[in-house]
Amino acid sequence: MARLHIMREDGKTPGRTGLCGQSATSTLKSTMVVLDPMPAVPPDGLLWCPGCLGGLADRAGVAGFLGQLLSAVGYPEPAAETRTLGG
Ligand SMILES: [Zn+2]
Repeated sequence: MARLHIMREDGKTPGRTGLCGQSATSTLKSTMVVLDPMPAVPPDGLLWCPGCLGGLADRAGVAGFLGQLLSAVGYPEPAAETRTLGG
């Protein structure tokens, strides 16, 4: 599943690097698409980049709140693989 990254607007390459450090450039196999403003949920077929969400929570000053929320949720087991290979 492709990830939706949150681009940083500062640093050496503003708008071209995710808060997680992922470089955002179009390639032969994928085209960079900018969604501005940030959507409330990722478009179909995409998932939030966990690193970018954590980075944005820190910048927004809500990392402590996010930590409290996650502490209340607990540490979940990894999701079971739902896809079947070769079938
Ligand atoms: Zn990211």
